Amino acid sequence: MPFQKLGLHPDLIRAVKALGYVEPTPIQREAIPLGMQGVDVMGCAQTGSGKTAAFVLPILHRLLTHPKPGLRVLVLVPTRELADQVQSMFRECGRFTHFRVAMVIGGVGYHDQIRAVKEGAQIMVATPGRLLDHLTQRAFNLTHVDHLVLDEADRMFDMGFLPDIRSILSYVPHERTTLLFSATLVPEVERIAAFALKNPQRVEIARPGTTAEGISQVLYPVVQSQKMDLLVTLLKTTEMRSVLIFCRTKFGADRLAHFLETQGHPAEVLHSNRTQGQRTTAMTNFRKGRSRILVATDIAARGIDVHGISHVINYDVPLHPEDYVHRVGRTARAYGVGDAITLMDTEEQAAVTAIERFLGVVFPRAMVPDFPYRYPPRLVAPKYMTPWQRQAGRRAKFSRRPGFRRS
Ligand code: AMP
Repeated sequence: MPFQKLGLHPDLIRAVKALGYVEPTPIQREAIPLGMQGVDVMGCAQTGSGKTAAFVLPILHRLLTHPKPGLRVLVLVPTRELADQVQSMFRECGRFTHFRVAMVIGGVGYHDQIRAVKEGAQIMVATPGRLLDHLTQRAFNLTHVDHLVLDEADRMFDMGFLPDIRSILSYVPHERTTLLFSATLVPEVERIAAFALKNPQRVEIARPGTTAEGISQVLYPVVQSQKMDLLVTLLKTTEMRSVLIFCRTKFGADRLAHFLETQGHPAEVLHSNRTQGQRTTAMTNFRKGRSRILVATDIAARGIDVHGISHVINYDVPLHPEDYVHRVGRTARAYGVGDAITLMDTEEQAAVTAIERFLGVVFPRAMVPDFPYRYPPRLVAPKYMTPWQRQAGRRAKFSRRPGFRRS
């Protein structure tokens, strides 16, 4: 189905064409018509599914077809990087319109943000903490907002933004359209929905807790003390165009990036202890292909949108299965194909088990030939699996088909 059939404003159809999108993704097919009608939507979609355009396009359509003065759109996101990505999507989809976007995020000066709003932005993309600062200082108001988006609501909850969101909502008029997107519809998200949305229409494309198809997932069992060497061997022996490596801690990320550098694999680092300038430079270098490797922590990597990440490597197994889904969602974005590699120490077996249960798969185990393993890696999964899980694991191994899974 082409975009024209959705009935979007011609200026938006032109922009979508210029972006090279041929047809809407499943979440866009479902959410855009609802958003255009102005009903509340609760969307369950993972990153990479095209969810940003799924709310940006109908909102721009409504601004064009129901014009009114003032700041009318507020998008709340968990991280600065995601704010940047959402802002770019508004700019790209709105390139043939006159709308202005203001970004309100931590880590940068207050003054320019206030000026951008006062100069007449119609759209604001904000992280909750900084926005609340501005609101309590009465730097500007949200009295004309009639479209609210809560993006990656599950992560905003994880990051402890729930009280801030509640406070922010008290500054936004009740008469509004609210769209909420989340990778997983966990009970906490339902709680946010209960106070923020009115009779929402549910749009659920990917089954909660699934990773996008098109990703081949593999596990390399190895002791912690050999992980760095194994990683370097993998980087040398595997064709990896663009690699995103996840570490659990900021210190671990710094240490790993430094080690990779000494081994002839320069890497950018992204975590919340770095200044906004350092984060922007790291992202620009990675995005433009000047750096092949980016080492990141979960929170910092949230919202990274880089085309053509060929490999996601979990240097540490994430503690929460949802984090695995988010990490791996960085590859195979919008019809791409990618590989997700997880290095697993025996201590991390329980976390892997939790992820496998969450996804209903068993990851294939692999070893690197000729690597001087200190202990022979265990290549069979423990026995706890049901036959159904084993079968699903085999499917995960061979599914390299691009596309989306509909539930
Ligand atoms: P998101 O899930 O919003 O993070 O989007 C993931 C990527 O998909 C972004 O790079 C978008 O530019 C891209 N994208 C969004 N919609 C489409 C579409 N209809 N066709 C192709 N790519 C798309």
